[in-house]
Amino acid sequence: MSGDRPKSEASITQNSEQVSGKMVYGSHRDEHAGRATGSCAPLSTLDERILAAEQQLVELTCQLIRMPTLNPPGVGYAQMCDFLEQYLKPYGFEIKKVRATGALGDSDKYPRWNVMARHEGPRQGECVHFNSHTDVVSVGEGWTVDPFAGLVRDGRVYGRGACDMKGGLAASIIAAICFIQTHPHYAGSVEISGTCDEESGGFGGVAYLAEKGWFNPERVQHVIIPEPLNKDRICLGHRGVWWAEIETKGHIAHGSMPFLGDCAVRHMGAVVQAFEDTLIPRLNDRLTDMPVVPDGARQSTININSIHGGQDEPEQGYTGLPSALVPDRCRMVIDRRFLIEEDLQEVEAEMRALLEQIKSGREKFDYELRELFHAIPTMTAEDAPVVTAVTQAIQATLGVSPEYVVSPGTYDQKHIDRIGRLHNCIAYGPGILDLAHQPDEYVGIQDMIESAQVMGRALQTLLLRTTD
Ligand SMILES: [Zn+2]
Repeated sequence: MSGDRPKSEASITQNSEQVSGKMVYGSHRDEHAGRATGSCAPLSTLDERILAAEQQLVELTCQLIRMPTLNPPGVGYAQMCDFLEQYLKPYGFEIKKVRATGALGDSDKYPRWNVMARHEGPRQGECVHFNSHTDVVSVGEGWTVDPFAGLVRDGRVYGRGACDMKGGLAASIIAAICFIQTHPHYAGSVEISGTCDEESGGFGGVAYLAEKGWFNPERVQHVIIPEPLNKDRICLGHRGVWWAEIETKGHIAHGSMPFLGDCAVRHMGAVVQAFEDTLIPRLNDRLTDMPVVPDGARQSTININSIHGGQDEPEQGYTGLPSALVPDRCRMVIDRRFLIEEDLQEVEAEMRALLEQIKSGREKFDYELRELFHAIPTMTAEDAPVVTAVTQAIQATLGVSPEYVVSPGTYDQKHIDRIGRLHNCIAYGPGILDLAHQPDEYVGIQDMIESAQVMGRALQTLLLRTTD
């Protein structure tokens, strides 16, 4: 599918009569199309141009879905970068492809490729960056359509990644192209990145690029991440996350004489019981002032991600034959989400105190606690320039004031914020959050159009301000 050629510039200015779908638009005036006049066109021109680009937007979304960039293991990234290079180059973008050599997950078999596209306006100004991840999660069960066909039906585009977040990537590309064509004399620059591995932590994607200086306040001033948060919501940030591993230790013995051993799984049972009795009720009472959605995520949470002890799982070589042993090791992986009002050190200390308490009251209880990964909570200020610009754009496009929200889970903003020191960053994009990672995932075409219009208007606010 990567052989699909990018549409010519003409396709972005096509007459709306050619547009498929049920929406009927006003007649499109060709004199607006693709012509640099030297003065800024009225705001409605960009809106019209985006409306008229519906077919191109839908086709682009389908083309992106047809590249199955599944993560794990992280396939098709090079093909995706080549496609985006071929797509954006004809519109005057300068392209850099960056492999995250040596980053977590990068290997010769599964190289971690990212693409950076930059368009420079003819005048000095700020840089607005749209960052989308190109990877998608596993397909899973329960699909009624082909997840990689890019099916268009009833005003929706279906497929794995349609909503999270190839629809958002496509919308930002169309918004940027239409903005550049409408305002060729704009001040500043527009960047679009397609980065990998967000679904597995972003180490070979945004984290790597931020470490190499691609995201820093000197070269990028505003960042919009078109994750599927609904078209009338602005996501200011996310809660924190602390992944850790708890291992309980026992003593191996024959399973027919468990009294001669010490069962690590039973010790882990005491940990689970302490979670139920003490920790979870305490976390439930800890509420945040962050506008986290859904409401249930306004508190601290812990998920027991996995527990394993004793005889191997089938994937690890379990043969179906009994092996009469008392387990001497049990391992639990926990996923603790914390609030901006909490401190990472306190989160870890609370867990350690709980385990120490068990140890003091339970014979032979021994454990290890290891951190696997953490991300600090982040929340962009409501009066930050990118928030103000997108707020005004939503009001003008949709006629409603946006809801400010915070994501229960993290996304690449964590790296842009911490490594890149770029705090003027939000997530805003088409698609319904609840559909992400689900079977029969889709993105609404009208949602994509409207959010592209919002992005286009935000570009106008941020890059047409210079008066000279
Ligand atoms: Zn996503």
